[in-house]
Amino acid sequence: MRITALAGGVGGARFVRGLLHHLSGTRPGERPEVTVIGNTGDDITLFGLRVCPDLDTLLYTLGGGVHDGQGWGRADESHLVIAELAALGATPMWFSLGDKDFATHIYRSQLLGHGMPLSAVTARLAGRWGLGEQGVTLLPMTDTPVETHVVVTEDGQQRAIHFQEWWVRHQAALEAERFVVAGLDAATPAPGVLEAIRSADVVLLPPSNPVVSIGIILGVPGVRDALRGTRAPVVGVSPLVGGRPVRGHADVCLRTIGVDTTSEAVAGLYADFLDGWLVDPEDPMPETARSSGPALVRRPLLMSSVEAAAEIAASALELAQRLGTASGGGEVRP
Ligand code: GDP
Ligand code: CA
Repeated sequence: MRITALAGGVGGARFVRGLLHHLSGTRPGERPEVTVIGNTGDDITLFGLRVCPDLDTLLYTLGGGVHDGQGWGRADESHLVIAELAALGATPMWFSLGDKDFATHIYRSQLLGHGMPLSAVTARLAGRWGLGEQGVTLLPMTDTPVETHVVVTEDGQQRAIHFQEWWVRHQAALEAERFVVAGLDAATPAPGVLEAIRSADVVLLPPSNPVVSIGIILGVPGVRDALRGTRAPVVGVSPLVGGRPVRGHADVCLRTIGVDTTSEAVAGLYADFLDGWLVDPEDPMPETARSSGPALVRRPLLMSSVEAAAEIAASALELAQRLGTASGGGEVRP
């Protein structure tokens, strides 16, 4: 069985870690292959180094090296390099980078500098974190450099700033007019991305940010069509609990694109390919949405532990199995 998931950073990584925990109970030889397609719109060049925050969060989380309290960055981290950069007067200083984390960016930048595509670099880094042994392939959505920018108004002037500057430095508090994704129109899916969607038995959408994580992956030419065309059931998990994002500023992102912060409205962003949708019991999603929209399952969606995330992933697979059987698709057996 092949499971393909689209993922941003923390929400995506915690969900996939839960999925792997759930699948670890599978009999040897029957363990599903999991392909994760990661968002690269958050990527940024800092101090001459290419930083891929969402891919790194996935690597560190799935590899057991993440700072769990933060949800990103390395556990047991020190900050000598950034302190020395500050002493030198280097900028920007609003993006936190630990010493071990720096090593990832140095190595990635070295390999990219040798002409290696990001997908090959990511595979190299995945080796460091033992993803292959867990049956996981991590693919960047594209090898084409893509960067999400935010058009903001400051002192009556419109200007575009990097997504990370808006998110990290300004905490999404600067009024955003729109998102502009530099390079996205001309991007091509990384090798294996479309194939992973087309040949999947199940496609999962973790509770990643629907606008600046999943939304960016969907914007890579060909990805959305592949999702519409796949025979696999596509099951998503709402990022909203109690009508609000669990962390981050998904509500601000949704408002910026003119979409309500409701699970129903988020499902609407995926309406052309979404078959199943997990929503929190507290969610105000109206029951009337049942008849026309995706098949709904209500269950608690707070990933408060690896086990809780594993149970959510199991529910998503169960729903996919029901939908797959109904449409005569392949059998899904975790
Ligand atoms: P980022 O790139 O680090 O911002 O991470 P993602 O885009 O992958 O995920 C961010 C989204 O995850 C936010 O919109 C959160 O609401 C959602 N999220 C985080 N933790 C949880 C959780 O425990 N349960 C659910 N349902 N969503 C969560
Ligand atoms: Ca992100």
